[in-house]
Amino acid sequence: MTKKYYELTPDERLASLHLDQRATTLWHDNQSETNAQLIENYVSDMRIPIGILKDIVVDDKHYAVPMATEEPSVIAAANHGAKLLNNLGGLHVKSPRQTAMIGQLLFYQTADDAIAQFVSANQQAFFECAKHAKPSIYRRNGGLLSVNARRVSPTQVSVDFLIDTKDAMGANIVNTILEAERAVFSSFEANFLGAILSNYATEQVVTVSAEVTVQQIGGQHIAEKIVALNDFAKHDIYRATTENKGIFNGISAVALATGNDWRAVEAAGHAYASRTGCYQALTTWHIVDNLLLGEISMPITVGTVGGTITALPQAKQALEVMAIQTANQLRGIMLAVGLAQNLAALKAIVDGGIQRGHMRMQYRALALQVGATVEELPNLVFKLSQEQQVDARVAQELLTEMRK
Ligand code: NDP
Repeated sequence: MTKKYYELTPDERLASLHLDQRATTLWHDNQSETNAQLIENYVSDMRIPIGILKDIVVDDKHYAVPMATEEPSVIAAANHGAKLLNNLGGLHVKSPRQTAMIGQLLFYQTADDAIAQFVSANQQAFFECAKHAKPSIYRRNGGLLSVNARRVSPTQVSVDFLIDTKDAMGANIVNTILEAERAVFSSFEANFLGAILSNYATEQVVTVSAEVTVQQIGGQHIAEKIVALNDFAKHDIYRATTENKGIFNGISAVALATGNDWRAVEAAGHAYASRTGCYQALTTWHIVDNLLLGEISMPITVGTVGGTITALPQAKQALEVMAIQTANQLRGIMLAVGLAQNLAALKAIVDGGIQRGHMRMQYRALALQVGATVEELPNLVFKLSQEQQVDARVAQELLTEMRK
């Protein structure tokens, strides 16, 4: 009997793709037994470079931070931004006392107050139910914190469960508790639509702030332009999207290196950036006397245990490099990296243009793209830096010339 696709081995699936021998060998050589267990229809690993932000001072502690990114210049910029912000005592974190994830039971076709009344009358039942559904999180002093009904439209109600998931990101913990709580709402079964955590963890908003002197940033003129550029992203969605993308260059690289779900982190960030009804930059910069002050705030849902963090050995190592244990510490460091990344990008744009630093790194990617070997790379990068116009065709011509 022919096997179903999901029953094939990774190599059998690879063979079904009919790649040439070179590609098949490359994909085969990048397989890993552990990762084959993580997802469905596995064929190979995609390797992403990990680099180090070598020193960022967060709440008076020095951290080396692993960042996984394919984008040239991200890590150089993070190091530059951190160096600037480390000068005056580093970055400071304000975070909530506990992890507080939100789970939603969603009800529709309900126009009266029956569900809200049921929620206020049955609080004890919800807490009992949560304890039975996930006793292990209670042994860790976590668990259900509150339950509230929230009307979202004339016919839709969300019952929001606030849950302390301790050092886990908590998606599975929340969903497990929610599925059990659904049974408590049996009298509303006809109105029940679904049970799922929300990635918009608004009870878990973290704020990181830091400052740099106007002199250190390059003078009054540069500092004022940084503030003006950031202010632009408070009014223009086109600029705000790119400013936030730059911030996630840092935050998501740490999320990825530590095995965290960077889509969850980014979704929460973008939602928070829209909280006023107008999508804006997640950071705010302003000048007070001789100081340029920066701040970033957003809900951030990451863990130091659970999910793929425990399954991926490199993710565990990344946490060990930072020497952190708690999700709260990780949240602060990630936002600190985001703020440093943002400062470096804003400074680069107003002080000489983003391409100046960026292109040096892009030349290396371009050289590899046209097939330069590691030995040929430095010479080709140098030749590219001497050119007025640089593109793949130019890189290819220079490489061909070099090989003559
Ligand atoms: P897990 O389901 O792996 O739960 C974490 C487990 O770690 C806990 O249940 C607990 O088990 C154990 N643990 C050990 N130490 C601690 C500690 N200090 N604090 C808390 N728990 C501890 O992971 P999550 O619930 O975090 O789920 C995350 C995964 O869910 C991610 O991979 C994510 O991609 C995925 N996901 C995301 C969704 C979304 O974002 N919308 C939706 C669904 C899934 P014990 O107490 O038994 O030892």
